[in-house]
This record gives sequence, structure tokens and C-alpha cells, in this order.
Amino acid sequence: MQGAEPRHSWDTPAIQVDEDLSQLQHKIDRLEHLLKDNNQLVAMLRDSVLHNKASWETGRRGGGTNVSLDSAHGLPGCRLAEDIKDGTDGVQLLDVYDLLPFDNPDGGAWKQGFEIHYHGNEWDKQPLELFLVPHSHNDPGWVKTFDSYYQDQTKHILNNMLLKLSEDHRRKMIWAEISYFSKWWNEIDKQKREMVKRLVEAGQLELVTGGWVMADEANSHYFAMLDQLIEGHQWLQKHLGVKPRSGWAVDPFGHSPSMTYLLKGAGLSNMVIQRIHYAVKKHFSQQQTLEFLWRQSWDSSPHNDITCHMMPFYSYDVPHTCGPNPAVCCQFDFHRLPGRRVFCPWRIPPQPITEQNIKERALLLLDQYRQKSRLFRSPVLLVPLGDDFRYVESSEWDAQFSNYQKLFDYFNQHPELHIKARFGTLSDYFEALHRHQKATGMNLPTLRGDFFTYADRDDHYWSGYFTSRPFYKRLDRALEATLRYSTEILFSLTLAEMRRFRGDSRLVPDYPAPEHFRGLVAGRRSLALFQHHDAVTGTARDPVMVDYGTRLFHAILSLRHVLQSSAHWLLLVDKTQYHHDQSKPFLQMDDVFSAHDALPQKTPLTLSHESLIIFNPTEQLRSSVINIVVDSPDAHVVDAETGHTLAAQISAVWVEPSRASTEAFQAGNRSIISLFKQFDVSHLKGPEASKLRLQSGLVRQVQVQFLWYGTRTGMNQDKSGAYLFLPGEEGAQPYSFSEPPLVRVSRGPVFSDITSCFQHFTHTVRLYHLDGIKLRLIISLLQLNIKVNADKLGAYMSDFYFVFYFLEIILPSGLVIPSVTSVSAEPSCRCTQAR
Ligand SMILES: [Zn+2]
Repeated sequence: MQGAEPRHSWDTPAIQVDEDLSQLQHKIDRLEHLLKDNNQLVAMLRDSVLHNKASWETGRRGGGTNVSLDSAHGLPGCRLAEDIKDGTDGVQLLDVYDLLPFDNPDGGAWKQGFEIHYHGNEWDKQPLELFLVPHSHNDPGWVKTFDSYYQDQTKHILNNMLLKLSEDHRRKMIWAEISYFSKWWNEIDKQKREMVKRLVEAGQLELVTGGWVMADEANSHYFAMLDQLIEGHQWLQKHLGVKPRSGWAVDPFGHSPSMTYLLKGAGLSNMVIQRIHYAVKKHFSQQQTLEFLWRQSWDSSPHNDITCHMMPFYSYDVPHTCGPNPAVCCQFDFHRLPGRRVFCPWRIPPQPITEQNIKERALLLLDQYRQKSRLFRSPVLLVPLGDDFRYVESSEWDAQFSNYQKLFDYFNQHPELHIKARFGTLSDYFEALHRHQKATGMNLPTLRGDFFTYADRDDHYWSGYFTSRPFYKRLDRALEATLRYSTEILFSLTLAEMRRFRGDSRLVPDYPAPEHFRGLVAGRRSLALFQHHDAVTGTARDPVMVDYGTRLFHAILSLRHVLQSSAHWLLLVDKTQYHHDQSKPFLQMDDVFSAHDALPQKTPLTLSHESLIIFNPTEQLRSSVINIVVDSPDAHVVDAETGHTLAAQISAVWVEPSRASTEAFQAGNRSIISLFKQFDVSHLKGPEASKLRLQSGLVRQVQVQFLWYGTRTGMNQDKSGAYLFLPGEEGAQPYSFSEPPLVRVSRGPVFSDITSCFQHFTHTVRLYHLDGIKLRLIISLLQLNIKVNADKLGAYMSDFYFVFYFLEIILPSGLVIPSVTSVSAEPSCRCTQAR
């Protein structure tokens, strides 16, 4: 540095401070290192203890015989940590997060990436093998409802697909959403169906993933994920006789290894994912690990591995898929040619390919392809060509296919460019990739972990949708529970039992099996549709959510008919008495769903006139507390088989915070003989605090605190919404109340609880007097639309327990006839959030 005076390192106090800080930093680094070593040592010791324990127990069970020490490891999902350390090429996502600085520097043309360089001779021996994969992303509901999208866009896309692919055998297309495809299939004639079959057989049309929808992977329960996959695959098998091989999930907001596991189990070998944190994409691009074998965390074998391709850039649209520079790639989206409705925001429009410009255009595009190719280990390159609801108009197909075909012809006529380019399906691409792997011995790294939480830019973490519209998330679980844990089981049992009863493999004529089966399939499909990544996520517009809610509601009603009718048959001792009359069902449910946006209401059981039947869907004995509503406090519960009186507890049904109903009473019972009732109503000042005495005699201090997050308030700042969680800088704020809460204390032999009634919600802590600690938290939000953009958070803290209230809300309800639900989460508000 010119003009700088050389100075002794101890000359000034400032330098002394620097030196001290440096030494301190060194000590901290050393301590961190020691801590890491220590953690590893503790982990090894823990693994060793587990291993020895498992071995000892195995030996003990084996009665001292020569049992292999590894036999305990044979159980799926029971792997010790050391078992899954395989090879040096494996990637653990949790380790990756430790490496990433999350600093978000400007990467130039590829904003979230880096400059990509190449020499030009990289493809001399192995030419670039390009597959351009036309696709159209059709959301089964988002801004418009499923049916509106279908009428306005989807059916035109599919109709044009038939014509345009048939015009030229080199043209290809992939399709993912079977909900739309099956709806269209129902409307087309035999001739068109034959055309579809020919296109599929010729490899021009590929059905990818085969799911009913492109499912969300964060909120969906695994059964519902599987349900939508089965529904789509069965449809494909029945109508087209095909089995999907490759998965395509470009829009779900983060990706889960559970979906990977299901896809592998469904027979898929490959998959593509897209919405991954931009810093992770950049890291994987630098490491050339965008393609990997996704392995389950608990599995040390390659048995469940699936080849996964992660898209490197910001989006799945054309500007972000041909290469790193969106301003260039946009020029090759010929749907944006001047005069059409869509344009390039980078203000350089596409040009139609002509003899005059083809060389310049082809080289410009080739440069992007080459740069993208440098991010992968193989010279086989996947480039998607599409966007949301693309290829609606016939002219759009012509613009894309004819211009690209000219470019491909040019590439193929110039071998010195070392590129083979063509339209392809997803499986065309993966087959070429696997061929290259086989020919060269190239291996892909293995990866374990999940891709949550997604951020598309800055600190925009997409965790808002984990809790958006909790009412509908609960309705989703209510339908799933009705479908899976009662109707499917009872319908199947009834068919089997009827065939056995008649002895001629036929059903009882009065039982409407075909109608019930249609109801069952409709229920499965309603649940499947709601797994779409704008449905269960809560990110669709209000009218679309109402449409989904209505479908879920009708599905529950229709499944209940199947359930009631099936249970009727199964319960009858004299089967000859069976008759079906839907207007007068033999059994009534103990709760009533009156509307898609209302909570089910318990119907009081009239004592002395009705009996209660409870269905246990598990294959084992259960001990649990059953709550029902009765019309008299003088209730006692008798086992219908033995005549024994069972223990029961009568509690109040509260119509207002301090007013109990005189017409309805809650009866909870388990096998303890006693009846007890006590209500205390009092006001508590200050935070809710009490002491809890455990069975061991220990007393624990328990405190409940409610916190809420606001959102950012600055000008031009993005706000929390259906997708994003962007809390204000002040962080979580204590929930404050002007009036102290009304507190109700209820004690009894079956359970005791404390309910605090605040202005906006009530909160109940219920302790069941069962073996061990059985604690349930119930939060009921009382006010509709509490506050847009205020993400409410309730946390329960003590020195032994911690839970967020949402965990309680999403639990499935009980499955009984009449249904007696033991889950009492009651979100009576529909919290709307808008992005
Ligand atoms: Zn989408």
C-alpha cells in the first residue's frame, strides 16, 4: 500500500487489542475443535452402548445359543449409527448446512450462483447429449378451482397435445397430474383414446410420477401421499396399462425423503425435484452433486435408493432452465415472441429462427447448454421446456416445436459443435444418463436427509404454509381418518363376510356395493386432490379453498353412508334381517358435520334409548378414554356384554366460559368403577401457573405462556403470508390481555383439567389418570380471522414437556360408530393469510 508507514506490531493499543482478539479467536477455534471431538467420542460411546445392549438382549432372547450379534440389526429401521456410515462419497444434508455461509452474494447473470467457465473441448470425446423436455405445469386448483382450470386451460392443452404430437414423431411431452388427465379421458371419444395409447406406446407422451396430483411433501400425512399415488397409478394401469418410471415434482415447496421412499416402492427409478434452498443448489452445483442417489436415513443398503436430479436454477420456467443466464434463456421461450401475450422481463425478446440468424442463435443457446452441463458429472443434459399451464393454444405448440426443431437440425448438421439435441421425455433423459454411467463407470454420490425449509431468495423461508389455514388441514385429517381407519376396513370386511355368509362368493342383493364402492373411490380422490401443493398447504385463493373444503365435506358424508351401512351388516346377529335404507340408517354417528366450514357438533346420546358402539380399527386391544355427550348427568356406563358398570366421569359441556349447559353433559369413561363430578370456577390473576404432581411423587412447576409473531412492517418489505414466515425484528411477543382469564378447574377419577378462557381463545391442559404421563393440550380459537399476518404461536413449557399447539390440531379424530372422538382440538376460526 503506497504511503503506508511500517509500524511495530505492539506500537498502539488498537493493535494490542487486535492481537488479543486474535489469540481469543484461536482459543475459541481450539475449544470448538475439542468440543467436536468430544461430541464424536460421546456419539461413539452411545453407539457402543446401544450395540452392546442390543447384542446382550439378542443373546438373552436366544437363550444363550450362538445367535448372531447382528440379528438385532435385521429389523428394518433399527440401524445403529455406525452401520450407516458408508463410503466417503455420501452426502449428509445436516453436514452441508454446517458448511454453508448463507451469505447470498450476487453471482452475476446467475444471481444466486456463480460464473461458469469452460474451455470448449470438454465435449470433444463425448458430445453433449441434450434432451429438451416439453412440460405444462397444471395446478389442480390455485387461483382458479380445479374445474375452472380444466375448462379454461387444461382440456385445450391436452386436446392440442394429441394433434401436435401426432403431426411429428420427433415431438415429445410429459404429463404429471392424473386428476386432470383422467377427467379429460372421460370426455374424449374412443378414437382419441386410441391416439393417446399410440403416443404413449411410441414414447412420445410420458406420464410422469403418476400421482393424482403433484403432492405437497410437508403437510401431507404419508397415507394421503400414498393414497394419491395409488389412485393415479391404478388409473394408469387400468386405462393405459403403463407404470410410471420417473418422478417429476417441480413445484412442491421443499422435498421429503418419505415421498422418495413411496416413489421407489411404487416402482419408480428416477425423479426430478426443483424447489430447494438456493444456497443448497449453489453448493450442489459447485460439487457437481445435483444428481445423486437419494438414500433413506435409516437404510445402509442401496435397496431404497432412487436416482434424483435437482434442478440448479431459480425456477422450472424457460428462463431458468436452459442455462444460468435468464436473460438469454428467455429468448428461447418462443411463446414470448413479439406480438404474443407473454414477454421477457429482461427486455430482450425472442426472435423467430431464420436462415439469417440461425448460426448466431444456435451458438448463443449452445453456450447456455454448455455452461449448465458443467454443473453435472455427465455430458447428458436435461432441459425442461414449459411453465404453468403452457401449450394452451395451437400456435404456441407450433412456435416452440418448429423453432426448436430448426435449432436441433442445425446442431445435428454441425458435428464440430459436439452436441446431439432432440425433444425427449424424462425417461429418455434418465435412460441416456444410465447408459453413460454404465459405459464409463461413473457413479453418483449418495445423499441422506430432506430439503426443508425451502427459501427461494434472501431470507424468504417458506414455512408460513406449514400452518396456513389450520381448519382445512384438520378437515384433511378428518377425511383421512374416516377413509382409512373405518370405511376402507369396514367395507372390505363386509364384502368378505357377505361372501362367506352366502357361501357362493356373491353379495347380499340389498347391499349397494357398487354405489358404496363409487363413494369410497370418490372419497379417496377428494383426499388425493387435497394433497396438491396449493391445497393442503393452504396457499390457494379463498374461493378455491371453499371448493376444496366442500369436496372434503361431501366426501366425509358419503363415506359415512358406506360406513354405517357396512357396520350394520357386520353387527347384525341375524343377517337375514339386513335391509338397506339410507333415509333410516340403523346406526347414527355421535357427531354431525353440518357444513364444510363448521366443526362437527356432538349429538347428545339419549339415555335409556340408545346404546353406544365403539369401533377399534387397530388389530390389538386398546385402553383409552372415550368421551361422549349425554342428555343427563345421571349417566352410568354398562358393558353390554358383561353387564358390569364401568367407571365414568361426568363433566360439564360449556356453552359460555362460565355457563354450563343444562341439557348436555360430557361422559368420559374407562374401566375404573367410580363416578365423580366437581367444577371449580375462579379468576386467576397473572400468568397461568401451577404445580403438577407426578406419580413418582415429584412436583414440577408448570407454566403456560402464549407468544405471537407479527410480521415485517417496513416500506417495500415482504410480509408473512400463506407461503412465507417473515417475523418482525422484535421477535416473539407475549400475548397480553386486558382482562385476566377465566379459569375453570375440573377434577375427576378419569381425568382432570384446567381451562383458561382468554378473549381470543381457550386453552385446556388435561391430565389423564392413566399409567405414565398422559397429557393433552387443547386450544380453541374463538375469533374468526384473528388477525391477518399475525402468526399465532402457543407453546407449553415446563421442565419436562414442550409442545406446539399445532401438533394437537392435526391429530386425526377417533374412528368409532357412533364416532367418539378423543381429540378435542377445535380451531373454530379459519385463519386467512394472503401473500
Ligand atoms: Zn404448482
